[in-house]
Amino acid sequence: MRVTILGSGTSQGVPVIACECPVCQSTDENDKRLRSSAMIDIGDKKLIIDAGPDFRTQMLRAGVKDVTALLLTHEHKDHIGGLDDIRAFNWVKNGEVDIYCNQRTKDVISKDYDYAFAAFRYPGVPEMNIHVIDEEPFWIGEIKIEPITVMHYKLPVTAFRIDNFAYITDANFISEASMKKLEGVEYMVINALRKEVHLSHFTLDQAIDVVKTLHVKQAYITHIGHQMGLHEEVSRELPENIQLAHDMLSFEF
Ligand SMILES: [Zn+2]
Ligand SMILES: [Zn+2]
Ligand SMILES: [Zn+2]
Repeated sequence: MRVTILGSGTSQGVPVIACECPVCQSTDENDKRLRSSAMIDIGDKKLIIDAGPDFRTQMLRAGVKDVTALLLTHEHKDHIGGLDDIRAFNWVKNGEVDIYCNQRTKDVISKDYDYAFAAFRYPGVPEMNIHVIDEEPFWIGEIKIEPITVMHYKLPVTAFRIDNFAYITDANFISEASMKKLEGVEYMVINALRKEVHLSHFTLDQAIDVVKTLHVKQAYITHIGHQMGLHEEVSRELPENIQLAHDMLSFEF
């Protein structure tokens, strides 16, 4: 399995428009973060987690020629705002793109992209085959995917576990039951917005706590805001088995 971080930034991305802070002004490529997304390559399958407003740029940057399916964590725009651009893959496939998400996310997609679901569809609209998932594991070919609910303040968000890997974004609370489902995970991508407490996102310390509690072998922090600080400086403060993700970071196990 190979995981590639297509975007490691929070909802506004980094740099933030019009911001003159040192992080947004940094010339370090690792401080330039597109909206959070990841690509998972397993055998001949390619799964993309989330399709935010940077989806098109991310597909071009990673040279993606086709996707097996999209897995969506929740309905916030920084995670679904790029769905119109799946049209390129409709063209490649000559058919729909398979999308897996919870009912709530499907409802928002149907409203936001109403033209894609109209009775008389204009030619060339994005074609989505949305599979509603709950907490039951599901299969894409031979790949078993376990959806795990985590909380984003009051909003349930889907984390995904595949074998010994888990991807958790936009969480600030994980219930005991969900922690149980994460036991045995060795590689993890987990969100942390900044060091200060936030209403709906883990802080860096809270994310580190989750990693430690689960005895994760190697963890990568994503959904990073500009207030986190410079990539290079924050990286030096972290335990050996935890690192800040950066765009296009890739690891295999
Ligand atoms: Zn987000
Ligand atoms: Zn800034
Ligand atoms: Zn969110």
